[in-house]
Amino acid sequence: MFRTPTSGLGYEHLPVRRSGTYAAGYVTCDGEGDAQDGRRGTQPELKLRRALHRRGLRFLVDVSPRGTNRRRRVDIFLRGVRIAVFVDGCFWHSCPVHAHLPRSNRDWWRRKLEGVVLRDRDADAELTAAGWLVVRVWEHEDPDVAADRIAQLARERRGHRRS
Ligand SMILES: [Zn+2]
Repeated sequence: MFRTPTSGLGYEHLPVRRSGTYAAGYVTCDGEGDAQDGRRGTQPELKLRRALHRRGLRFLVDVSPRGTNRRRRVDIFLRGVRIAVFVDGCFWHSCPVHAHLPRSNRDWWRRKLEGVVLRDRDADAELTAAGWLVVRVWEHEDPDVAADRIAQLARERRGHRRS
């Protein structure tokens, strides 16, 4: 029965048939306008995007590059210089500092997490073959340090293109 007004969920139960804009307006008015965005970007992703923006870089987010597996999504995508950035969560992508296996169902988790890493390497290979530079940023990394690295790579790649 209890439902927090800011959850952004459950509004489909409201009588909104007459106009779709009512539903959208309702969600926005409760101050959770970013809720829809949640799926599109984790906190580390959003921080990195802001850091890149501050450095004057412009990019697309959550796209699948042409010529690659359509289900492949790239988190941040610098089209002009052909840089594909992934922000990898420490747990799911087994970062060297924070990787760990949950205590229960260890075998299942091991296979699951190994599968994620294999898919990562597969994506790297496919994108590299298509001419993209793949940059992976760990969730735990300082977004400003990562953004500096990406900005530097973008400058280098822009330089190469002119010659
Ligand atoms: Zn980590």
